[in-house]
Amino acid sequence: MDPVQWNVGLSRLVLSGIMGLAVGDALGVPVEFRERETLARDPVVGMRAYGTYNKPAGTWSDDTSMTLCLMSGLAKGLDYDEIMRNFLKWYKAGEFTADGHTFDVGTTTSAALERFERGVPALECGGTGEYDNGNGSLMRILPLVFYLSTVYGVNFQDSSEAFDIIHNVSALTHAHKRSQIACGIYLSIAAMLLSGSDLEHAIKIGIHKAMEYYEKQPEYAEELGHLSRLRSEDFKKIPREKISSSGYVVSSLEAAIWCLLNTNDYASCILEAVNLGGDTDTVAAIAGGLAGLAYGYEAIPQDWLDVLVRREYLEKACYEFSLALARRDTGSQS
Ligand SMILES: [Mg+2]
Repeated sequence: MDPVQWNVGLSRLVLSGIMGLAVGDALGVPVEFRERETLARDPVVGMRAYGTYNKPAGTWSDDTSMTLCLMSGLAKGLDYDEIMRNFLKWYKAGEFTADGHTFDVGTTTSAALERFERGVPALECGGTGEYDNGNGSLMRILPLVFYLSTVYGVNFQDSSEAFDIIHNVSALTHAHKRSQIACGIYLSIAAMLLSGSDLEHAIKIGIHKAMEYYEKQPEYAEELGHLSRLRSEDFKKIPREKISSSGYVVSSLEAAIWCLLNTNDYASCILEAVNLGGDTDTVAAIAGGLAGLAYGYEAIPQDWLDVLVRREYLEKACYEFSLALARRDTGSQS
């Protein structure tokens, strides 16, 4: 593809994916931890105010904040310390937030950031235990696909170096192999969407390509059993009551993909994700990033974007990230 065309396309894709994620996050925040049965009686149909964190409508949380931290870090190149310093600015000083206040921080994430502050090297900070498999790295990993596609092309799945980078970016907070694999699968689907695949094909082939890679890596292959439902031809048909929407990384990834497969537009997908209950904001953020890439920025309802807190700041961050990647791209080609 002509680099100029690619750069224009890339900035549009960044905006679609990141704003798709932020809107999903904000839709879920007021009802986080609400049970599915409760939401069935009073389903979310648009941006709500107050609720779980008593915040104004359109307030986004840690998912979007940590995504912004990663974007800001990657804009300067791949520097794990820089990304961690951004996380720390968010965690300790309320930077990269909707209203100056840090909230909804996961336990594995806070433990990792406390370690970094004590001087532990960035790549040794993430939790490695079985119980460190919350969705805290998956929810913020999306910007990495844009970086990888600039460096390795949209078929980054052919490069073990690209997978190493994904695993490292996850490991800053979440170093268990299961969390790393979830990030690898998610970005593999995202890469398929960047290359223009339709959603169902992107999910099927994206999962397949990632799994093919992991099967060849003995230390990862033994974890694949935990993600086996995603490989089933009938995954889409799994009944709703068998889809958990908890904060466990496998459940969150499954729930997000299930919502993507069972809806046909951005708004329905995100509302389905939120109304599953549980970890509403993060499941909707994870689904929202891919739904944004699949359906495009224009598909995000205008009235949701209108109430999104600090919308201009978010869109500027997308634009600046795209510019930094474009500079890198043309720089490497000249
Ligand atoms: Mg959150």
